[in-house]
Amino acid sequence: MRLLVHETQGLFVSFRGALALKAAVDLPPVAAKPCETCAAPCLTACPAGALTGAGYDVPRCHDFLDSEAGQDCMTNGCAVRRTCPVSQAYARVPEQSAYHMRQFHR
Ligand code: SF4
Ligand code: SF4
Repeated sequence: MRLLVHETQGLFVSFRGALALKAAVDLPPVAAKPCETCAAPCLTACPAGALTGAGYDVPRCHDFLDSEAGQDCMTNGCAVRRTCPVSQAYARVPEQSAYHMRQFHR
């Protein structure tokens, strides 16, 4: 599994919904890819090695979240997301991150 990196919101952005239009609409220009000019601290931030340049090993992430060490991610949000400068600029309050982690890990 690989993840979208939104140009202003960073990692772990999800879209829930779709629009069906009867006519074609002009789309905005394609955004610049933030990862192309980044030192990529995300590649080494996961303490479980679950999210790397090779992709996202979801079972490995879940296993780690069951451990005591994984409670930092459960409480404060994914450490990979927190290390991404784009994600940091679109910060979530800790309660929001904890909520999403509980929904993800159940
Ligand atoms: S840390 Fe950099 S390379 Fe990694 S997802 Fe964020 S912008 Fe992309
Ligand atoms: S939630 Fe924690 S264990 Fe899972 S990918 Fe993010 S940093 Fe790694």
